[in-house]
Amino acid sequence: MMRPTRLLLGALLLAAASAQAQPAEFAACLSGLRAPARAAGVQDASFERFTQGLQPDMSVVDKLNVQPEFSTPIWDYLAGLVDDERIAEGRAQLQRHADTLARVQQRFGVDPATVVAVWGVESNFGQSFGKYPLVQALGTLACNGRRQAYFRTEFFSALRILQAGHVAPERLVGSWAGAFGHTQFMPSTFERLAVDFDGDGRRDLMDNTADALASTANFLARAGWQDGQPWGFEVKLPAGFPTSGEGRRTKRAMGEWTRRGLLRVDGSPLPAEAGPAGLMTPAGATGPAFLVLRNFDAIYSYNAAESYGLAIAHLADRLRGGGPFVTPWPTDDPGLSRAQRRELQGLLLLRGHDIGEADGMLGEKSRAAIRVEQARLGQPATGRGGLLLLKALQPR
Ligand code: CA
Repeated sequence: MMRPTRLLLGALLLAAASAQAQPAEFAACLSGLRAPARAAGVQDASFERFTQGLQPDMSVVDKLNVQPEFSTPIWDYLAGLVDDERIAEGRAQLQRHADTLARVQQRFGVDPATVVAVWGVESNFGQSFGKYPLVQALGTLACNGRRQAYFRTEFFSALRILQAGHVAPERLVGSWAGAFGHTQFMPSTFERLAVDFDGDGRRDLMDNTADALASTANFLARAGWQDGQPWGFEVKLPAGFPTSGEGRRTKRAMGEWTRRGLLRVDGSPLPAEAGPAGLMTPAGATGPAFLVLRNFDAIYSYNAAESYGLAIAHLADRLRGGGPFVTPWPTDDPGLSRAQRRELQGLLLLRGHDIGEADGMLGEKSRAAIRVEQARLGQPATGRGGLLLLKALQPR
């Protein structure tokens, strides 16, 4: 959550020079942080203990500066996050943790499917935490790069978490930007909102599922979640409906949307009792359209991207037994599920491309191989793996 990359999408002017680690400067910076850390509640002994011998990892500064090669179409983003595997796994987790989730709902007023959907998107149900030691990553970013003040706060926060003994130092690993655990909280978010739900005295988002599920629910509750209300729903727009000026934040009463001719996507009337809603058309007026309510904003605050919010909201619906969106995305080249991405990578390997393991993530090597194959097939060499390329490479 709150990964700085998301805030940077679209930023054009970035210092691209790859910085070199300079141990002496880093050591000087760290010792300069000792006094402000003390003022922020990190005792000298803790600072010493947790930063002793710390070396910078300049790869995280490169990550901070990375410019996306292209912006991912929303249908690619959703196809990977809400696929059959994640739906099946999420349903299994709903059963497995049914008792905990029921108690979480009782205390925080957030339903099981929503909590599990966040968990599934944030860490693939606890299977993907990131691999960066947090003190090293945050210490590096506190002393290097463009957002040192922000990361300094998170660095001190991580040191306080260790000082309090919530997580063992060697277990505190996460994303390059400092999000960690089942819920991918930033350290400051952990301090504000993490919950000790199993009552063992520690707030443990690395190794304790109950603490993690409750912490996610607490986050959403504090962000204004209203139990029993929908996040929103897919709608059908009248032909030629003007969508310009509409959006998540332009909330209108349900009655006004009804007067303007909107229906639920199955043709039934809008629910009159539902609260004010904004109209989201993430792929333009010809793609799927959604009325989103206050609960969508709560999800959005977990990670400020509408595509992210839609992935969680839709996954939650699918976990409850709902179907895919009715209106197709406006493309003739739909996105790939993770299983299809692995299949595509297998086909690239068969064709002799050295792309490493077929892990379902289309990284740089996969995209380079895709460009070669697209050129060979006479397609635009975009490096994007979609259904058309997969089908073209499948044996006949
Ligand atoms: Ca606990």
